[in-house]
Order: sequence, then structure tokens, then C-alpha cells
Amino acid sequence: MALDRASAERKDPAWVRAQLAASGSRAVLVGRDGIAVDGGRSVARTPLPVPWPQAGEPILLGVGGDGALFALDLDAALGAPAAGELRRDWRLVGLRQVGAELPRAEGGLAAYAVALVNWHRRHGFCANCGAATLVVEGGYVRRCPRCGSEHFPRTDPVVIMLVEHDDRLLLGRRAGWPPGRYSALAGFLSPGESAEEAVVREVREESGIVAREPTFVASQPWPFPSSLMLGFEARASGGEPVARDGELEDVRWFTREEVVAAIADEGGGPLLPPAESIARFLIERWAEPGRRGA
Ligand SMILES: [Zn+2]
Repeated sequence: MALDRASAERKDPAWVRAQLAASGSRAVLVGRDGIAVDGGRSVARTPLPVPWPQAGEPILLGVGGDGALFALDLDAALGAPAAGELRRDWRLVGLRQVGAELPRAEGGLAAYAVALVNWHRRHGFCANCGAATLVVEGGYVRRCPRCGSEHFPRTDPVVIMLVEHDDRLLLGRRAGWPPGRYSALAGFLSPGESAEEAVVREVREESGIVAREPTFVASQPWPFPSSLMLGFEARASGGEPVARDGELEDVRWFTREEVVAAIADEGGGPLLPPAESIARFLIERWAEPGRRGA
């Protein structure tokens, strides 16, 4: 995402106000049903001020080549987004569709804007004393005028991991997924736990398999509503997996041949997670020719 988050400049309220008034500044529009996307393949960017009243407090996303970019909460502005107020060639697109339809940089922008707007929606009041909080630092902080507490947008870390044994992958499926869908095991970190410990614990809880040597691969923001997926690979000494904590409907080993066929969509293997997910990235990376199994 080619956007400077202006972490230093945004601490100056006068600078933020100047960006709001600048002719080159734009805003993206976030509603409960998604983010406004223009007729092409990009997030819609509207001039400021927007042509309707009470647009909520603009949140500064950052500064790009053309000027500052803000996010506006459409629901705060309009209740339910009033379609007539939107430009006719815009449509509200849910984040999962954005990830599938738009280029990666635009998907990243959408994820960032939606995560930040969602956080503001949920943190209007101080968790410490209950008073209404104020937006500061262009929306990176909410400050309580009564007790002085500062509240920062939170990110909930989730580990997601491929476990390998004897050139096979451990994948599981949750109830309610499309028929045949299997994906990497995943779970939230517990307080006081390292990501590596969480990998081992989640694999044991969800499958009974003992994972070892968890190795970090890559991460992905996952704003449903505010997670960060930490992608790992780990090894195991084999064993028969058993879905036993109620989260998974089934968990089993898949051979390399089954995984490769599934990636090629040839049938015979599992239905893999969608292309924009880190699970899919990890699985395709594992299946690349030349990578040797444990
Ligand atoms: Zn307070």
C-alpha cells in the first residue's frame, strides 16, 4: 500500500486540519455493508468536504502522491448509507469481495480503512471510566477527557499454521464451510503466550497432533474485525489427527499429490481456501516444486 501513514505529522492537530481543508485531499467511504468502490477496480476517493452533513469524524489514513487520504464512516453520516447520496457508479463492496476483485494495493487500503473505522465505532467510550472519548492524532488514538486514558486501535494476533509430516499436510474443516473445503489450522493467541507456543497449543487442541519447530513465514492483516494472521510452518512426528475441541468438523492429513491437484483445481483433493487468504499462500508455497518435506 503506497500510503505514508504520517505518524509524526498527525500528532499536530493544526496539520491535520490543514490536510482536511486542502483541495487535493480525498476520503474513502466505509459503511456496514462494505467500502465504496468505483466503476473500475479501485476504492472510490471523494473530494472533501463530502456533499452531505454530519459525515462523522474524518480519520486520517495517510498521505499519498496526490494528497492526504481520510476515511469516513458512512453510517455515522447517513444512518444506513443512502444510495442516492452516493455517486451512481459507486457500489459498496464487502471486504472479502474487495480482496477477490481489486488489485492487492487497493485491497490493502480497504482493509486498513475498514479496520480503523470499525475500531472507532466500537470505542466511543472510555474502557476505564465510561466517558465519551475524543479522536486525536488524526484517528490513531482516542483520548478520554475525564480520566486522561489513551486508547489505541487494537490488533488481535491469530496464528495460522501448516503442519507437515512425511510430505503430507495437516488441514482441517469447520462446520458451515463449503463442502470439501479444508484449510490451515488457526487460533487466537492467549494472554502471555508467544506465537510459537500458540502454534503448538492450537495444533494439539484442534487435532491432538504434537507440532514442533514452528517457523514464522508471513503475516496478513485480517480486518474481521481486527486480526493479524501470523503464518507459520511446523513439523510433526505423525499420528492420527482427531477433531476434538469442537471447533473442527474434521481434520486429516493430505498428501502432496492431493494438495497439488487441489491447487490445480483438478478435483480429487480438498477445496482450498480463496486466493486472497494467507492460508492459500502458505499452502501454495508448501507445494512449490523443489520444496522437500520433513
Ligand atoms: Zn476515562
